[in-house]
Parts: sequence; structure tokens; C-alpha cells
Amino acid sequence: MAILLEDVTLITTGIKKPVLTGQQIIIDRGVVADVGRQVDLQKFPVRKRIDCSGKIVMPGLINAHSHLTEVLQRSFRDNVRMETWREYRAGTEKAVRLTPEDITAAASLACAEMLKAGVTAVVDHFSTRPGLSVEKMRAIVSAFDRTGIRGVLAPSLRDQDFLTLLKDRSGKKTSVGEEPWEEKVLEIIRDTQKTSKCTSVMLGPSNPLNCSDSLLLKVVEIAEAQNLGIHTHLLETKLQQWGARRLYSGGVVARMKKLGLLSPRLSAAHGIWLTEREMDFMASAGASVVHNPASNLKLGSGLAPVIKLRNRGVNVALGTDGGDTSDTYSIFEQMRLAAFLSRLTSEDSAQWVTSREALRMATLNGARAIPAWRNKIGKIQKGYCADLVILKPHLRLCPLNDIVNQLVYCESGQSVDTVFVNGEIVLRNGRLLRVDERRLTEQVQSVSEKMYRTYQRLPRHGSDIRFYRKRDWI
Ligand SMILES: [Zn+2]
Repeated sequence: MAILLEDVTLITTGIKKPVLTGQQIIIDRGVVADVGRQVDLQKFPVRKRIDCSGKIVMPGLINAHSHLTEVLQRSFRDNVRMETWREYRAGTEKAVRLTPEDITAAASLACAEMLKAGVTAVVDHFSTRPGLSVEKMRAIVSAFDRTGIRGVLAPSLRDQDFLTLLKDRSGKKTSVGEEPWEEKVLEIIRDTQKTSKCTSVMLGPSNPLNCSDSLLLKVVEIAEAQNLGIHTHLLETKLQQWGARRLYSGGVVARMKKLGLLSPRLSAAHGIWLTEREMDFMASAGASVVHNPASNLKLGSGLAPVIKLRNRGVNVALGTDGGDTSDTYSIFEQMRLAAFLSRLTSEDSAQWVTSREALRMATLNGARAIPAWRNKIGKIQKGYCADLVILKPHLRLCPLNDIVNQLVYCESGQSVDTVFVNGEIVLRNGRLLRVDERRLTEQVQSVSEKMYRTYQRLPRHGSDIRFYRKRDWI
């Protein structure tokens, strides 16, 4: 039996007609069965009608790069660069040794935050120290299932450390001692294919600089055999660019090209320090870049060349990165920042990212960056999965005139009233229907407090900073 949304003001994500009024939407068996001014009600027996007059219906937002368990270390740190931050984060996790229950609770809390702010799909580039295990990956899938969000698990893979490689050019002591990952990842792929309608897997090499050739070749082989996407970090910091040039002649993107990693399967987070030639490689391969403006600002990593990427035809999606580095899982915030920051990278206002483009980055482009959901989510169209958000305009949308401008520049997520994922209502009247938010918060608070105490006892990393300075890269 179908659900009918009536008198809808619909956000289409189209450039020419971004907003349509007086629409009807039929949701049946998880998909948008029909949409238009007058849908065929004979064909779909309606069991529930939702009056959307005075409300806005938009496609669910897509968070194309995040780390869900980092919510546990939310805002532990201030003014640290990415490499130092990463040491602290990993050191804290290693000392605490999270259980699968801790992981599910933390990831569920991050998913809850996203659903309440209109995010219906997320890529979790997942790692916890020490080591990757099937139980830990299942814990993430369980958070997706529990909250009802559409989730992509991209287990983080690495077998070398580029900073160690740079310090010790002899090539010794480069292994980081990670266990074999192939069987574990194949097992979780089988699991999700059997049991979950809304979960899929991407392969997630942490960063090509932290992966050997053989690991990357294996990733490409499995991705092709299993028809999976590949997700990675790429050239997030100036240090990574500096190191890549010293370790690989021609740079890291040329190395990825040689290893077969550049293809429409690939989505790469950040890409701040891509050269013009490397952007050309990404464009001709049909690869995506995921822009994470809040995280890049907090860590002082730089400004991603979004305008240059877009002008080359590279698909640019949006992500929040971790709950520690950007302090939020809000895609509304990333849209606003993406549009605003583009104004600092070009003097030509005609080149700036507009609100309409930012909205596409957060919806359609996000879907394009996830092969499993490409052409299935990201817009409200007949045949697409029914992942959509009903907004009841909050004060920040009042007075309401240019809806798309205001969604991107004014909205914070407070207007989110109802959320559908795969045709199921998972949030109604601003309340989550599948999880007890208070219980979840309490559970995560106690684990996070333990981590904070552990973090405060960690030795501070002055030596890394001296190492960077010695090589004069800053
Ligand atoms: Zn990241």
C-alpha cells in the first residue's frame, strides 16, 4: 500500500526548474512510484496521505565522506594539523580498545544526528585501532540497520606509513603490521548482500600513500570482481603533496593511474593539493572528489580547488569527515561552506559555486560518488529510491522567498520534520522512530568520557612538528 504526499513544494535539484509547486508524490515499496501534478491514484492504492502544504520536500542529503566513530572524540582538540591530530586520535583509540557495542552506539549517534538534519545516506570510511575485524565492521552495519539510514561501509585499509617511509628512505620498517584484510572484507560483503537492503560496501584504502602497490592492486582486483566502489583520502595536506613527490616520481595520482585505481569507481576525499595535471587525470578517469570544507578549515589543510575540478567536469560531492575534525555531521553546513569558500578561490563571481550547485553537490553528485547507489538516489524522480526529507520551515527559513538560496545559506537542519529512507519513515515530527536518542546519548557519553581522560594523558607530539620544520615544507 502506498503513501501519498500532497500539495508538495518540491526541490528538484534541476538547474532550470529547481522548485516545483503543487506536486504529488507516491511512495510505494521503497521507491518513488510516481511524481507530478496529478499522479495516477488508481494504480496505487493509498494507505496514508501526508499533507505537505506549507512544507518543502527535498531529496535526502548525502554525506559522501565521514568517520562515524570519531563522534566519540568530538572537539577533544583545537589548533592541531592533520598529521598530529591523527596521531592523537589513533593513540586514544588504541589505548581504549572500543568494543563492537561501543562502535555501534557511537555510529548510531552520528547517524541519528544526520537523520535529524536531513542526511539519508552516508559513506563511513571506517577504521578503529587496533586492527580491523569482521565484528567491528558488523557493528557499523548494525548502526545503519538500527537507525534506518542508508549506509556505505568503506573499511579503511593500509599496510605502510608514508611518514615512516620519508624518515627512513632505506625502505625498512615500513610495515604497520596490519593483518590480512581480504577475507574479512569479503565476509562483510557477503553479509550485507544477504541481510541488508540499505547497506553496501566500498573498498577504502586509507590513503594511497599509506598503501603498498600490492594492496592497491588487490583493491582494484576485488572492486572489479565484486563490482564495488573504491573510497580513499587523497592529498589532504601539503605534507602529503610534499611526501608524494619524494616517494613517487610523477606524484601519487600518476601512481594511482598506473595501478588502475583511477576510474568511475573511485571517490577521493579532499584533493586539496591536486596539481592541474592530476585534476586532468581525475577528470578523464571519471573519478569523483569529495569536498569536506569544515574539516579542511578546522585542520588548516587548505582550500580544495572545487571550481577548477568542476570546470574540468570532475564530479564533486560533499562530506563532513569525522565528528572530531569538523565537529558536525551536517551537510547543510557543508553546502553553505562549499559555496562561500569558492568565493576565496576565484575573483570572477560568475565562477563561484551557487546555491543550486551546492545543493547538487549534496544530493546528485553524492549519489554519483557511490557506485552502488548511482542513479538510484540523489533526486526525487519516478523509479528512484524514496529517500526524501520534508521540511517545516523554521525561523531561519522565514520570510521564505528563494527556497534554494535559503536552504543552502540559511537552513541548519532545524526545519527537518520528516525523513524517509527507502520508503520508510525513520523520523517524524523531528523525532527518531527507530532509536531512543536519550539512551544512545547516555551510552556514548560514558565511552567518550573514558576516551577524553585517556587522550589527556597522551604525550604531546612536539617531535613531529620539528620533523616537518626541519624539512622546510611549512
Ligand atoms: Zn577522512
